[in-house]
Amino acid sequence: MADRTVADRRELERALRAEVRGGVDFSPGARALTTMDASNYRRVPDGVVAPYDAADVAAALAVCRAHGVPVVPRGAGTSIAGQATGTGVVLDFTRHMRSVVSVDPEARTAVVQPGAVLDRLRDEAGRHGLTFGPDPSTHSRCTLGGMIGNNACGSHSVAWGRPRTTSTSCPW
Ligand SMILES: Cc1cc2nc3c(=O)[nH]c(=O)nc-3n(C[C@H](O)[C@H](O)[C@H](O)COP(=O)(O)OP(=O)(O)OC[C@H]3O[C@@H](n4cnc5c(N)ncnc54)[C@H](O)[C@@H]3O)c2cc1C
Repeated sequence: MADRTVADRRELERALRAEVRGGVDFSPGARALTTMDASNYRRVPDGVVAPYDAADVAAALAVCRAHGVPVVPRGAGTSIAGQATGTGVVLDFTRHMRSVVSVDPEARTAVVQPGAVLDRLRDEAGRHGLTFGPDPSTHSRCTLGGMIGNNACGSHSVAWGRPRTTSTSCPW
């Protein structure tokens, strides 16, 4: 669906509300807040969905696919090239899917939700003398999902690798 009308957007919102348990917000405020990341690019989405869990993500994707609407996942929105913005539906992982689920110090692995902030993972890993190697300067805000999306780096990624190429934990 290339040029969506107001009626198209209302139908999309209705369908998302029927299928998604998390937040579905097509208000001007919610749309305005996600028009930008940390770049000069501006793209106004149709609406914002804040899924509760993976099943909610699948439900939102199914609705958007049926309506031919593009989807952009979004973490903290600190990207610097417009890649956290889009004209369709923005999936906001920072509201409900932001937990560090578990850290296994023996296996040196962690289970996180995509909206978990890097510093929360570092706090949890630090209890075991571990950390997560890649450390963008936005570490107090950026999310693990956004870091993987960008394959983010940082001063320690030189030694310990980037999200798509490193193991999840490193000794201090
Ligand atoms: C001042 C400043 C300093 C920075 N310093 C660094 C730095 O040192 N190193 C560095 O690498 N970057 C840096 N960045 C860029 C950015 O902060 C990082 O890349 C950060 O990891 C992005 O995380 P985010 O949560 O903000 O992701 P977002 O900007 O929200 O998203 C990033 C990308 O990932 C995708 N995405 C988000 N969540 C998901 C998901 N759940 N599933 C699939 N895709 C997803 C988005 O669609 C987007 O394409 C900096 C930015 C600023 C403004």
